[in-house]
Amino acid sequence: MYPYHLVGASEVDPSARSLCEHAVEVSCLLLGIAKPLVRFIAPSDDGIIRMKQPINAYSPPDGREIFIRQGLSPFELVNAVIHECRHCKQWQDRAWRNRAPEIWERDADLFCHEFWGEHSRAGDHAAMMATLAAIRLELVKTEVSRRRVTVEAMYHKPGRNNLSPGRIEFAS
Ligand SMILES: [Zn+2]
Repeated sequence: MYPYHLVGASEVDPSARSLCEHAVEVSCLLLGIAKPLVRFIAPSDDGIIRMKQPINAYSPPDGREIFIRQGLSPFELVNAVIHECRHCKQWQDRAWRNRAPEIWERDADLFCHEFWGEHSRAGDHAAMMATLAAIRLELVKTEVSRRRVTVEAMYHKPGRNNLSPGRIEFAS
C-alpha cells in the first residue's frame, strides 16, 4: 500500500493552487459540471489515504472531489486536474458505472488530448496560466458563435419572424 496524508492549505504552494483553480474552472466549463473541491496530498508513512499504487491524482466515487499529489510540474498538475475532472463527470453519470476501468481511462485521456489540442504542454507556471487563458478564450468564442447560430435559426424560422433585429437576444 502507498499511504498519503492531506496537505494543509497553508503548506500548498500558492502558484500551484491558482494553476489548479484555473484548470478546474476551464475543465468544468467544458464538461458542464460543478467545480469539484481540490485537495493536495503527499506521500507519508502514517497517511490515512491508502493507494494500491503511487498516484499523481485521484477522484473518489462521489465525483465532487479531486486529490492531487503535491510537487507536480506545471504540465503534470494541469493534466492531472483535467483528467480527474473528466473522472468526476464519469462518476456523476450513472451510464458510466458498468463500464470497464480501461474505458474510463481511455475516455479521460481522450478528454485531455482534446483539451490541449495544438497548445504547448511545456512551460513554467506563467506559461501554463497563459495556455489556460487561451483555451478558455477559445471556449468562450465557440459558445458565442453557437449562440449566434441559435439566434439566427430562430430569426429565420417561419412563424418566429416577429422578432425584429432590435429585439434579438442571445438564446440561453
Ligand atoms: Zn484516470
